[in-house]
Amino acid sequence: MSAQGVKKVVIAGGGTAGWCAAAALSRLLGPVLDITLIESADIGIIGVGEATIPTVRAFHHLLSVDEQAFMRETDATFKLGIGFENWAREGDQYFHSFGTIGKSPWMGHFYNIWLEGRSRGIGGSLDDYSLETKAAKAGKFQIHKNLPINYAYHFDAVMYGKYLRKLSESGGVKRHEGEIKSVQQQAETGFITSVTLASGEVISGDLFIDCTGFRGLLIEETLHTGYEDWTHWLRTDRAVAVQTQPAGPPLPYTKSIAHADGWRWRIPLQSRVGNGLIYASAHLSDEDAEARLMASLDAPAVNTPRLIKYRTGRRKQIWNKNCVAVGLASGFIEPLESTSIHLFQKSVLDLVQNFPFFGINDTLVAHYNRLAQQEIEYARDFVILHYKLTERSDSAFWRENAGMDVPDSLKERIELFQESGLAFQGPGELFRTDSWAQVMLGQRLEPKGWHRLGALMNEGELNQVFAGLKSTIDDTVAKMLPQDAFLKQYCPTAVV
Ligand SMILES: Cc1cc2nc3c(=O)[nH]c(=O)nc-3n(C[C@H](O)[C@H](O)[C@H](O)COP(=O)(O)OP(=O)(O)OC[C@H]3O[C@@H](n4cnc5c(N)ncnc54)[C@H](O)[C@@H]3O)c2cc1C
Repeated sequence: MSAQGVKKVVIAGGGTAGWCAAAALSRLLGPVLDITLIESADIGIIGVGEATIPTVRAFHHLLSVDEQAFMRETDATFKLGIGFENWAREGDQYFHSFGTIGKSPWMGHFYNIWLEGRSRGIGGSLDDYSLETKAAKAGKFQIHKNLPINYAYHFDAVMYGKYLRKLSESGGVKRHEGEIKSVQQQAETGFITSVTLASGEVISGDLFIDCTGFRGLLIEETLHTGYEDWTHWLRTDRAVAVQTQPAGPPLPYTKSIAHADGWRWRIPLQSRVGNGLIYASAHLSDEDAEARLMASLDAPAVNTPRLIKYRTGRRKQIWNKNCVAVGLASGFIEPLESTSIHLFQKSVLDLVQNFPFFGINDTLVAHYNRLAQQEIEYARDFVILHYKLTERSDSAFWRENAGMDVPDSLKERIELFQESGLAFQGPGELFRTDSWAQVMLGQRLEPKGWHRLGALMNEGELNQVFAGLKSTIDDTVAKMLPQDAFLKQYCPTAVV
């Protein structure tokens, strides 16, 4: 491909993805690279990515992000998981927590012991064995060294971009304001050589990172890489989003509430709440979606509702020639499990680990693309699972979801759990066994059998195990602070 080494990196786009890429490359490889970012104030950013998963903390750790400063500057709150409502059946509720469930011996996961207990009428709810779920439901959160709690954040996406910009610029990233009007390529190889801004300025580079959002100005409009459409599995294609005043102290979790044609989110920040309705335009008009969202609000809106269109799928190669697509330019899975920010932070870290210092070659590109494909397909399957396992039949939307054919990889997982009670985390996979088990059970997938490690104990021993775990969690939660009290002392918002 190109024996030419890579030193000059040009990042096209300054949304969350662009600034994440700039921050990571400058903080981790700054001294050996020359990094430029181009963004256009006229085009603007999507700016609705507000809920994350715990891997964001690992990303921040690598970049030496100061958690308290970051949370203050982004109006952030803590997130312990997602509370699902009305998904399998109207009126149902379940929690997908970020923590581990119970205590698992090497032979199998705790949920098997719980299933054994349940079959004998003991053990109560699976939620009783998750510290994160119990704390979330009590509205509590605290960090201290003796508290093993797994968490992520809710934050203001626009403020997060500004925070990352500060990190990037202090790490030497040069920022250009202006719209890219044309892209120049080498005639022979098709490699991108430079971009020209509306001002006429030409910016050249060795490697181009396309963070221009859904359009994919470089990866698609220039290189015509192609897009694999997943709408037949994930049917929603629009969102309408609005912010409201807080109706009370912020909850330390995201709410995902299913409606007849999709679902809606509720994401609490310190000074406001993000709300959005996700829907399939084949079943619901934009006007009705907005009316449905506005009718569901529990506090006055503070801005005007905004419509966002999207197409679920993945770019066929996120690295093509000397262009790597990061963020929405690389593909999109709807925000049900808050996977987007994770996916692009992971792809940026993969790039740091596989950086083409001595030139771009086919093997490297194929390796990188394989990593990215596996990551997004795992996330895709996990999100499809929620839809496939619905028992709702109250609308065409839910009937289509329940009746769809899912990818073979997911079909096998569902069968494995149904037949043998086995959930698993694939090699390098994001979602852990406990995540799969919580969602499968929460969506009413009933296993015919399970690992009988619980049957190795008599009923008295089982009861003792359950009671011990429950009381440890209950005592811990009782001593924790309400989240808002902790936020006020740890990272009070800079929003006035
Ligand atoms: C409805 C919805 C809800 C979401 N919720 C979540 C969530 O809860 N959690 C999560 O992890 N993710 C979520 N996401 C995804 C998240 O919003 C995105 O992954 C994230 O915002 C990254 O966007 P981006 O930077 O790739 O693109 P954008 O924000 O679209 O930024 C594109 C950038 O490219 C620039 N640009 C474009 N064309 C040009 C040009 N010609 N010249 C110069 N600059 C140009 C723009 O100026 C802008 O700076 C959600 C997405 C949607 C649609």
